[in-house]
Amino acid sequence: VTEESLDIVVVPHTHWDREWYLPLEGYRHRLIPMLDRVIDLLESGVLSCFLLDGQCVVVEDYLHHKPERAEALAQLVRAGRLKIGPWYALADEFLVSGEALLRNLAEGRRVAGALGGASEVAYSPDPFGHVSQMPQIVRGFGMDTFVFARGLGQTPTRTVYLWEGPDGSKVQALFLATSYSNGRLLLSSDQVAQRLRSEVERLRPHLAAPVVLVCAGSDHEIPHPQIGPRLARAAEEVAPWRLHLGTLENYRDILKGHTPTALSLNGELRGARLLPLLPGVLSARIPLKQANDRCQDLLELKAEPFSALACILGSRDPSSSLRAAWRELLHNHAHDSICGCSIDAVHRENFTRFERVGQIANGVLDESAAFLARQAVEKLEGDHLRVFFNAFEQDFEGVVETVVREPLSGSESEGPAGAAFSRWTAQGPGHSRRVQVVAEDISEGCFPYPSGSALRTTRMLVEARIPALGYETVRLLKGIQDGPHLPVVAAGETAELVWMENEFCRVEATRNGQLSLIHRRSGRRWEGLGLFESSADAGDTYNFSPLPDTQPILGLVGARVSLIQKGPLQAAISVQGSLKLPLGLSRDRRSRSRRMVARPVHLVVALTVRNPLMEVHLQFDNQASDHRLRLRFPLRATVGQTWAQSAFDIVKRDHAKVDPTGWIEDPATTHPQGGVCFVPEDPRGLRGLAFFARGLPEYELVSGPDPYLAVTLLRCVGWLSREDVPSRRCQAGPKIATPEAQCLGPQSFRFALAPWADDAEPMSPVRLLRMSRRFAAPPWSIDANPPIGFGQESWPVAPGLSDSRLSRAAGLLSVEGRSVVLSALFALDQNTLVLRLLQAESKVGSARLKLHESLGSQWTATLTDLEVNPLGDTALPLESEGWTVPLQPWGLTTLRLERSSSQSMNERPAGP
Ligand SMILES: [Zn+2]
Repeated sequence: VTEESLDIVVVPHTHWDREWYLPLEGYRHRLIPMLDRVIDLLESGVLSCFLLDGQCVVVEDYLHHKPERAEALAQLVRAGRLKIGPWYALADEFLVSGEALLRNLAEGRRVAGALGGASEVAYSPDPFGHVSQMPQIVRGFGMDTFVFARGLGQTPTRTVYLWEGPDGSKVQALFLATSYSNGRLLLSSDQVAQRLRSEVERLRPHLAAPVVLVCAGSDHEIPHPQIGPRLARAAEEVAPWRLHLGTLENYRDILKGHTPTALSLNGELRGARLLPLLPGVLSARIPLKQANDRCQDLLELKAEPFSALACILGSRDPSSSLRAAWRELLHNHAHDSICGCSIDAVHRENFTRFERVGQIANGVLDESAAFLARQAVEKLEGDHLRVFFNAFEQDFEGVVETVVREPLSGSESEGPAGAAFSRWTAQGPGHSRRVQVVAEDISEGCFPYPSGSALRTTRMLVEARIPALGYETVRLLKGIQDGPHLPVVAAGETAELVWMENEFCRVEATRNGQLSLIHRRSGRRWEGLGLFESSADAGDTYNFSPLPDTQPILGLVGARVSLIQKGPLQAAISVQGSLKLPLGLSRDRRSRSRRMVARPVHLVVALTVRNPLMEVHLQFDNQASDHRLRLRFPLRATVGQTWAQSAFDIVKRDHAKVDPTGWIEDPATTHPQGGVCFVPEDPRGLRGLAFFARGLPEYELVSGPDPYLAVTLLRCVGWLSREDVPSRRCQAGPKIATPEAQCLGPQSFRFALAPWADDAEPMSPVRLLRMSRRFAAPPWSIDANPPIGFGQESWPVAPGLSDSRLSRAAGLLSVEGRSVVLSALFALDQNTLVLRLLQAESKVGSARLKLHESLGSQWTATLTDLEVNPLGDTALPLESEGWTVPLQPWGLTTLRLERSSSQSMNERPAGP
């Protein structure tokens, strides 16, 4: 680097956490004068350009209060002087689904597009690490450059990398080696040129080309009113270096002119050498993570696919409602929001948003399911008709839960509730189905049933066989009928233990609550599963911080075990005990308090026919502060590796110890999983244990002579950020008390375990992703003839449609392929479906796609990018009423299915 050839690109910007240590409206109050000033400086020519932080939601926040500024703002965006987007919100990447990241970019580009265009650089300055598939995501939206700050570990520091994802996609990744605020308060003194020179010296060892990026701005920083003229003056002082006031696009282009020597990067970025990764955010405020997974599952796995199918059959177009739900959800995906590292007021608002997402998505789902039910069931066909839905792209065989509510006559209602379960059977297409009643309750009738009368509520499990992405109709009948001999769950007890078993597993619980899981075919046992572990946590919402010389408290006190369901479809073991824990930390925070609090814990462990998962539902009331509560799952062996679900990937992490010398934060020992984590016992994965959960994203593999997998249930802390966290040699945020981050109160968790042991067939990513998806969205049931006032009678039906056009069971769309996973199915309008597939292995493959005949035959299928723009001339040929879709290794393939305009909805032939 000769002194003459150096270029300095100063990018004026601000990093705008929309909500963090102030609530949304608190920051908006500052956002308005900040953007007022930016617009004024740009309009008056004092400033030539400004980067608005890579996200669009802040623009909406501003225009919501100042709609009269929309045109002025749009003019600057169109002129390329105000850079907005491409993201809608700067999301955390590990705590949201892959689809959520795609919807975030799509929405950001849509909002920015309406205002004049999105930034061409995927700028992600602050999120806490980056997922492996980001190169493919960025490429799929037509961009080639990613800008990031956090996540580098042992890799040598360089300002330019070539980052490759598991599918082979590569992006230029520009690294902010001295952070996104290396030009913070650049104009706060007269020494601008000197500040620039010292930044050049700091960055010089890392430069991939003689180009230095100075980001003039920081968190919520308002640009200096003299920024333009004073930088012009500084330009003279730093000569012969060339000083440019520009955008990230300018930086990218100037770099290109120098052909930088990029280093290569591969896979996910989760190191913390130069900037902290803040891994404790994975477990701060776990209830937020649970609510987010519930919303994502509801939208992605139920509301979108079923409303799409109903819409194609003539139901209302759901797309505007679903977009509203996604936008609401994306507000919560901002890194300080979903990470749980904001003040309490912010997270109270997050929960309200999650509520609203659920309300919209359930509205869409209820309408769509009722519409499909009406197409499949003749009216007034009798009582107790149910329609079961399967959101999974493979046929489902197993059990579905449903509830029957019946108003009782006077004499009936006087019997003891639940004393003797009534007997039921079910009639589905084909044969009769077994039913297992699991609870019965008599209560006072309420809407829509007559008040004053008694109501019997019977919760039951029904055997089901539901086609892929389809439904079946089942009639529930009182009494027992003989059906074919099918697998059962058996259960029993001895003096020492309670046991249950299905085709796959056996579970044993000793009388003191020790749980064992046995893989039946191989006989392999995993013992002592689900041991409670509570460790002191003197940290904050960003980092777990154990106390030295303090041992964790293990196990339940006074555990009692009983068999509460005995088959034939499901058996369940109840484990009750109490957690006896210190109330919090001592006043000096150096030990746990001596005052103890004991609270009851209730686990229900269930095995169900045709389901390889041992499912667990856990409830307890947390009254202990300043601790991390985990469950330990002892392992038979480990090779120091885990396979964990991440956005569109199963990441194989090697948990070798990293030398933390010189790191700003100790390397993370806890890691994220987005639904499943498998611990192989051998490098191929022929044996091992898989853990599935929704909303429990943090795990740790603890090696040693007695290895175990630990999963965090709660991390209870009282501070947003503290200065005395030894594992982190910097502040992460202001020291503000966050009493609600202690997560006191009732908590409930759902998770599952599945053993794997096969001499010939290793566990595979596609198997894990399919099991994870099935666990996330089990089939569900609706009442096909609900009581008046309870819904579907009042839904509008498209004109020209008659009821009962579908058969009693149908798969509306089939997706078949060795390693294919359905990632998304949604409607753009009544004649357009969008389908996204993931090839979950490192080999090319194909998927066979077929629409049910009732959806009509005049369809064309076109390959698109991730934003659903057609990719050139890529219509797929129709072969025997379906399409064969080529799939790339770990590639996402998006398809647009369009019904030709010659065949509008009402002209189609009637279905079967
Ligand atoms: Zn931030």
